Amino acid sequence: MGLVVQKFGGSSVKDAECLRRVAGIITNTYKAGNNVIVVVSAQGDTTDDLIEKAKEISKNPSKREMDMLLTTGEQISASLLAMTIAEMGYPAISLTGWQAGMMTNSTYSNSRIKKINPERILAELDKKNIVIVTGFQGINKYDDMTTLGRGGSDTSAVALAAACHADLCEIYTDVDGVYTTDPRIAPNAKKLDEISYDEMLELASLGANVLHNRSVELAKKYNVNLCVRSSITGAEGTIVKEVTTVESMMVRGIAKDNDVARISICHIEDTPGKAFRIFSLLAKHNINVDIILQSIGRENTKDISFTVNEGKLQEALDIIENNKDVIGYGELSYTTEVSKVSIVGAGMVTNPGVAAKMFEALYDASINIHMIATSEIKVSVLIDEGLENLAVRAIQDKFELV
Ligand code: ASP
Ligand code: MG
Repeated sequence: MGLVVQKFGGSSVKDAECLRRVAGIITNTYKAGNNVIVVVSAQGDTTDDLIEKAKEISKNPSKREMDMLLTTGEQISASLLAMTIAEMGYPAISLTGWQAGMMTNSTYSNSRIKKINPERILAELDKKNIVIVTGFQGINKYDDMTTLGRGGSDTSAVALAAACHADLCEIYTDVDGVYTTDPRIAPNAKKLDEISYDEMLELASLGANVLHNRSVELAKKYNVNLCVRSSITGAEGTIVKEVTTVESMMVRGIAKDNDVARISICHIEDTPGKAFRIFSLLAKHNINVDIILQSIGRENTKDISFTVNEGKLQEALDIIENNKDVIGYGELSYTTEVSKVSIVGAGMVTNPGVAAKMFEALYDASINIHMIATSEIKVSVLIDEGLENLAVRAIQDKFELV
């Protein structure tokens, strides 16, 4: 007997049949004597459809109104799921983000959970209700609805698990766990039985679409027992935890990200403080920079290239152009025709030659590398867009990830 948080993604609740399947999983957990908090995403493509509807009306709708709109998606699935469970003869109640006490900061469309007041949830659990909470949403200090960013329901679930001291947080999806890489790209990708928080965080941040990266951050911070599993097959799934027993595994996973743009600032005066100027300006505007490459100085100038998320490209270019005098450079160029492919594994630190093996795989596949970045547990390369799936397969085969 314990407290379990179960999160179901959009594909797991997309229609009545799926809702019944999910209700079966929930009521089985409840029947076994557990208290159950359920977090749901919007059904199927609802969030995308709502965004489309807004686009038909406005090119640049207010973020507050967008959040007002998008939060309805999760309300639909939460109420329908409560009805489905009631039909099966079990007590269930659905709660919106504000009813559930999910307090966020005031940023619309990408807000962060600041605090959870779980009194209402705990009171409903005391009454033996199955509590269904809308994912992806909260309320800010102005009593306005906010959303946590695309894919944010995972974060709602982990935050609730931490706040209510749940024994387990299960993330149900349409695949049976975390794979070494996307099995649709590399059919020989393997399911992982476990993965460390750090590795999962890197993979999530580098473009693996399994978990919202902030959910992994929270799980690590509060030591939440996290498990990713299928709502369809009932298979064991992947456990995300602090240390893993498969110590020898150099590379745990491969991620790709097409949503990348490269910016190059050329002929920058070769004096101290230039990199500081450029990157502090970008940071001030909340633009995340990833791979950075600076050439050695020659004839008193140097070049700096770096990558940003494609959605932030225009803003980044504007900032650099508007500050041309302060930075002092010759020319600015960019491309969106690039993709990032990364390998992640905690075992890399102690195993030399991992990067070389990745580069060999790319060489065998005749893929040219434009930029490289490394950390203790990852190696990322920037390559031509369109070659990323080939790269992922080549790397998966080279390392024979099992
Ligand atoms: N419904 C939201 C989205 O599609 C949140 C989520 O599914 O986690 O991004
Ligand atoms: Mg998701």
